[in-house]
Amino acid sequence: MMTGAQKMPRDGWTRTQAVLLSAGFLLLLCGSVRGGSDGNLQVPAAVQANITSGEDLCKETTQSKGNGPAIPAFNYASSGDDWTGDCQTGKQQSPIDLPTTDNSTLGSIPSSHLVRFGTITASGNAVLRLEIDEVELLSSNWSTANFQIPVCGGDNIGCLESPPDAPVEYMSASIVNLHFHANSEHTRNGNYYGAEAHLVTKITLNGKKNLVVFGTWMDVSSNKTNEFFSGLQSYINDTSVISVGSVCSPVPENVKFSIDNLLPATKTYYAYRGSLTTPPCTEGVTWIVFTKPVQMSITQLKALYKSNAYTSQPCANVTTNALCNILGARTNNRLLQPLNGRTIKLGSYGPDSN
Ligand SMILES: [Zn+2]
Repeated sequence: MMTGAQKMPRDGWTRTQAVLLSAGFLLLLCGSVRGGSDGNLQVPAAVQANITSGEDLCKETTQSKGNGPAIPAFNYASSGDDWTGDCQTGKQQSPIDLPTTDNSTLGSIPSSHLVRFGTITASGNAVLRLEIDEVELLSSNWSTANFQIPVCGGDNIGCLESPPDAPVEYMSASIVNLHFHANSEHTRNGNYYGAEAHLVTKITLNGKKNLVVFGTWMDVSSNKTNEFFSGLQSYINDTSVISVGSVCSPVPENVKFSIDNLLPATKTYYAYRGSLTTPPCTEGVTWIVFTKPVQMSITQLKALYKSNAYTSQPCANVTTNALCNILGARTNNRLLQPLNGRTIKLGSYGPDSN
């Protein structure tokens, strides 16, 4: 995942941005001609007046907002091994390998401290953005109901460091984006899944923005079509992604994306403290990774692989995911990071929910 509380979550904000607009066109190309330097095209005022909020959203996320540290340019040529700063020196980095749920080292989160999953919907002026190495759903109109994050002791998000009887306050989280990695970033007992969806959310405590990222593994072993992903796919132009590197595709205002349809039915989750998985690899991110994967088809996984950067590393060099090798794909998952003594907790909703 990318994004920091201090910066928006986008891989590659500092990449060249080019915005090609034509009034009335549904397709907005925003961005990043590979390898370019600062070639931002100025959008004429007359055209600017016609920019819909969806298009604004696309443009905004491809350009620095001028606050917070700059996000360094990066790629997946070494799957993150060559990233600098906190990516190199941090001690609480992501992703990590997660154990099976019966592992004795897992701490447990009491039922009184579990995340409350309500409904999460993107509607109106949503934008499906495909950058060089990532499929990302943005929206100017995310809505949530009864989706709440537990906080203990004032700033202990997720209550990961609290005793079972610690008083808890529930806070509403706002949605930043939904995006995908292929292969998965987190592994389970050393094994990769085909892909991993990241729902990036944030809650504000004492004026500080804190990220809580929800990871969902996407498994292709049953080759079953993922209906949620199918809905996104209809707005993806694969050819353009390959040739241009970045496409912003405004979604008609009446189209809604219910994130609940992507998340696994069983909400039992791993939780730990980690980082952004893209530069600048900022720490302090609360990670919630569901123990149960959702299913997707091999054809859908291919579409994700296809959206990965030309500079990304061929699977054969970086991963044990056999399917990735077979497909000759390239990947946008960061290499696993050391646990360094961190505790992983399990939040379980019932005896059969692991
Ligand atoms: Zn991510």
